[in-house]
Amino acid sequence: MERVAIVWFRQDLRLEDHQALRAAAQDYEQVIPLFILSHQEISWMMGRASRWWLHHSLERFDQLLRELGLNLIIRQGNPLAVLRELVKEVGAQAVFWHRRYEPSALEEDRAIKIFLEEQEIKVKSFSGHLLFEPWEVLNKQNRPFQVFTPFWKACLTLHQPQQPLKAPSYLPPFKRSITTLSVSDLGLLPKIPWDVGLKKAWQPGCSFALKKAQAFIDNDIHHYHKTRDRPDLVNGVSHLSPHLHFGELSPRMLWHAIETSCDIHEEGPQSFIRQLGWREFAYYLLYHFPFTPDSPLKESFKAFPWTKNAQWLKAWQKGQTGYPIVDAGMRELWATGWMHNRVRLIVGSFLVKDLRLHWLEGEKWFWDTLVDADLANNCLGWQWVAGCGADAAPYFRIFNPVSQSEKFDPEGVYIRKWVPELAKLPTKWIHKPWEASSDILANAGIKLGLDYPYPIVDHQEARIKALEAFEKIKQNAI
Ligand SMILES: Cc1cc2nc3c(=O)[nH]c(=O)nc-3n(C[C@H](O)[C@H](O)[C@H](O)COP(=O)(O)OP(=O)(O)OC[C@H]3O[C@@H](n4cnc5c(N)ncnc54)[C@H](O)[C@@H]3O)c2cc1C
Repeated sequence: MERVAIVWFRQDLRLEDHQALRAAAQDYEQVIPLFILSHQEISWMMGRASRWWLHHSLERFDQLLRELGLNLIIRQGNPLAVLRELVKEVGAQAVFWHRRYEPSALEEDRAIKIFLEEQEIKVKSFSGHLLFEPWEVLNKQNRPFQVFTPFWKACLTLHQPQQPLKAPSYLPPFKRSITTLSVSDLGLLPKIPWDVGLKKAWQPGCSFALKKAQAFIDNDIHHYHKTRDRPDLVNGVSHLSPHLHFGELSPRMLWHAIETSCDIHEEGPQSFIRQLGWREFAYYLLYHFPFTPDSPLKESFKAFPWTKNAQWLKAWQKGQTGYPIVDAGMRELWATGWMHNRVRLIVGSFLVKDLRLHWLEGEKWFWDTLVDADLANNCLGWQWVAGCGADAAPYFRIFNPVSQSEKFDPEGVYIRKWVPELAKLPTKWIHKPWEASSDILANAGIKLGLDYPYPIVDHQEARIKALEAFEKIKQNAI
């Protein structure tokens, strides 16, 4: 009898650098690629922008597999139940997958492995989402690092990330037909068509990811160290985050493509690889501190006197705070499902320090609206901004949204793009329209309070209140 292996695809919707697929194709006569949309009510259910991405990514991936003569089998439900049924239906001897690291996913994978092995089904997991496994790196006390630089240094002395595998040119198909849902049956797309901006901004799928990565490496990586903080420059950063999140591209592929095409001692590539290091650090922290998506790493922050103000939260979400750089970022997020990292830092700081709203509110909004929403990176980002995470910005260091804007969007190009009602303001005032004279505002066609809001809080006053609030937990928070 011919032996059958199931390859369970999760956040690895690609053919290149796919160790699970390679192992299945090498050792088994028939391979079944499977995707399961989980029904499980876990705490962080996929957000709406991610569901949009997943729909398109799955469609492209299904197409790629068809070109190789394979059908992607799509099922919906509890993964353990789906696998139990499918293994029986096709008489599979093995199930292979790439590892996941989110706490609930880890738990689920462990339970499934135990169950299948009890049925004498071979289960093998592979590394495909990270450069270094989180359990590989510990400090001298055998404990997890909580500071980025020594963590990354330790990673870099471990081993060179493995060469990525080439995409297979042939995969042995399953010879009988199996029932499958179509990608559309999963109902991932929005019922109300709010996704026009996303369609304009993105092309999900591994072939696009590869092209985009190579173009960035060929043209833009060399000046990345100078451009990565500038939201006004179109190609200052790579825009690869959703492709990396869904595994359309692996960090190993990026690492080796950079090594092949660049002098890695140059500042640009060095600085880019360091950012991949922050991604590794995010997964590392999530693995070692699995409570952090919902709870601060620094205990003292549990007692922080956060405010509650639904109106402020709404103004922040809608990009109506009266601070142009904050509003530009929040509108970019709403329109495209993505926001520049520097602006994520600015809007994050504004939420948790100027408005003193809980960082979890920000984390939840990003989770729903980002196409790159990633439990590890989002959690690291928000805890960093709030000052309650590992190696985080101290709470008392409060970003001034005007000087940040003047520094990183000096001509106001980014603001003009996303807050068009301010487009005609002279550059001097674009970062702080409330300081412009009524003549200047009139010449630019703006009536403050009507066309564009007054600031919802005064930054200097808000700063004092934030520092007073911080005093209450300060002893243990630094
Ligand atoms: C509050 C906040 C929330 C965030 N939420 C997410 C999230 O949900 N998903 C997400 O992928 N990133 C998140 N980030 C990190 C970062 O903003 C994005 O990864 C980056 O903006 C993506 O754009 P890019 O691909 O052009 O990045 P590049 O600058 O081109 O960087 C290349 C890759 O390195 C990784 N990377 C870069 N910066 C960081 C960082 N600070 N932390 C971790 N990894 C990084 C990403 O995978 C990125 O794609 C968040 C940051 C903050 C401050």
